[in-house]
Amino acid sequence: MLESISPAPLLAIDGLEVNFGAVRALKGVSLDVHQGEVVALVGANGAGKSTTLRTVSGLNRPKAGRIAFAGQSIAARPPAEIVSLGISHAPEGRRLFGGLTVADNLRLGACTRRDRDGVARDQDRMFALFPILKQRLSQLAGTLSGGEQQQLALARAMMAAPRLLLLDEPSLGVAPLLVRHIFEALAELKRQGMTMLLVEQNIAIALDLADRAYVLRTGRVVLSGRSAELTANDKVAQAYLGADE
Ligand code: ATP
Repeated sequence: MLESISPAPLLAIDGLEVNFGAVRALKGVSLDVHQGEVVALVGANGAGKSTTLRTVSGLNRPKAGRIAFAGQSIAARPPAEIVSLGISHAPEGRRLFGGLTVADNLRLGACTRRDRDGVARDQDRMFALFPILKQRLSQLAGTLSGGEQQQLALARAMMAAPRLLLLDEPSLGVAPLLVRHIFEALAELKRQGMTMLLVEQNIAIALDLADRAYVLRTGRVVLSGRSAELTANDKVAQAYLGADE
């Protein structure tokens, strides 16, 4: 049989609407992420980036629209079920267990898995990407620096062996040198074939990593395309600044 030229996307979001009371946070967002792709979701504060990720993870309920993952509808399924289907979320603000050690946080990331050898292999893989975590294994997560906590949050999300990694602002509250290190690690994960949907306010660094990007503005996609094209597009800045076109 001939291979399909354009296989179905791993994640397909169609007409997604989310309200918080009277606030219409998402007004019909549609986007796709294909297997092996890194897709960035960029836009100003309050554009709806985090809400999109949280709705994919089952943390927010959509009012309307479809979310399909690997061909299955997942809209409004419980978060634990969505994790077990293969979607892992490294949330904004990291949400680590600050009173637990680095080792315990990593173990909790893998708590849905039964393949002990695979878990040990993935932990070694994370230590290769983020060597500082190996040195800090018995340290309480709450005592790590912002950049170290971000590395732990990424490693913890990866310990679930996801097929899709949702990343919310990995550069937030991280010193510039560590931001570079974290994005180099994400580039390595991309080379290893990891599929990612990345929310990031630092548009330059996001477009540098991503294959494609969507620009959100007040709950709508106003622009999308290949990263290289968007980098050269003046409309991106306009969408960001909210300037009229
Ligand atoms: P930021 O980078 O500031 O997080 P964002 O693009 O991720 O921005 P969202 O956090 O998704 O934006 O917010 C989209 C809109 O929904 C905003 O108007 C925000 O105030 C509103 N919103 C988000 N979460 C809630 C909530 N739990 N309750 C009420 N309103 C919310």
